[in-house]
Amino acid sequence: MKLTILGNNSALPAFGRHPTSQIVSVYGDLLMIDCGEATQIQMQRYGFKWRKLQHIFISHLHGDHYFGLAGLINSMSLLGRTLPLHLYAPAALESMLQQVMDVADTVLCYPFHFHPLPDGAGLLVDNDAYSVSCFPVEHRITCHGFLVHQKTKGRKLLPEKCREYEIPRYYYEKLKQGEDYERKDGMVVKNEWVTTDGPAPKKYAYCADTIYTDSFLEYINAADTIYHESTYLHRDADKATARFHSTSIQAAEIAKKANAQQLLLGHFSSKYRDLEPFREEAATIFPNVQATIEGVTYEI
Ligand SMILES: [Zn+2]
Ligand SMILES: [Zn+2]
Repeated sequence: MKLTILGNNSALPAFGRHPTSQIVSVYGDLLMIDCGEATQIQMQRYGFKWRKLQHIFISHLHGDHYFGLAGLINSMSLLGRTLPLHLYAPAALESMLQQVMDVADTVLCYPFHFHPLPDGAGLLVDNDAYSVSCFPVEHRITCHGFLVHQKTKGRKLLPEKCREYEIPRYYYEKLKQGEDYERKDGMVVKNEWVTTDGPAPKKYAYCADTIYTDSFLEYINAADTIYHESTYLHRDADKATARFHSTSIQAAEIAKKANAQQLLLGHFSSKYRDLEPFREEAATIFPNVQATIEGVTYEI
């Protein structure tokens, strides 16, 4: 599972940085979290294929998290998309989008499914490769964080060993499920001779926008990677609290309390040109931290 940052800034674009959007790649599917202005341009810039985008999740209805949505949805229709697209967002967004399409007499050429977010936590997507759920954070308006769980896809084949023991290809799926193979000559090929452990399941937690609070720790506990907003440096902690945002130090405190492996910072205020102080401050509390950079892909 990988994460690419398309936009790492807060309300205003500044210093070449764009409003919030990011893409989680999991087993070839693309999941978009938030869709700030310029998201479709950023997708093109970093070479993402539209048709691989399956699900879009919108955390809340501050414009820096969804002003790019109408353009993106429209462009995919102009480009002849046929695959369904699922949007998970606050309920009020459905009629807003519909109005944008109605006044332009737009009829999308692909199936578009709107799923209103629940009031609290809930499961949004669940398939054999991954699940996505939402949880409430504390912001000036209703806001959700998202959790992406990558599932294991069974054991990993050792192709050379499979050939050595003359195992037919049709049996490979069963090997991935952990089964042994009995050859025609009666020899039982043990599963562990021809496979190794598959990749460990991963958990990614997206926490934006939120005031510093322990209230959602139970949902993000033991996440491999946490993306936490850090709109402000800690000297501006008063401002952060007043505006229901967090500082670099506060984001690091949350990652530490959640026993995360890695912390990624984002949603930077446009008042800061240099992002290195965010990383330096947070690292005093939680060492494995990065101030995210647009276009960079992070392993989760
Ligand atoms: Zn925001
Ligand atoms: Zn906000």
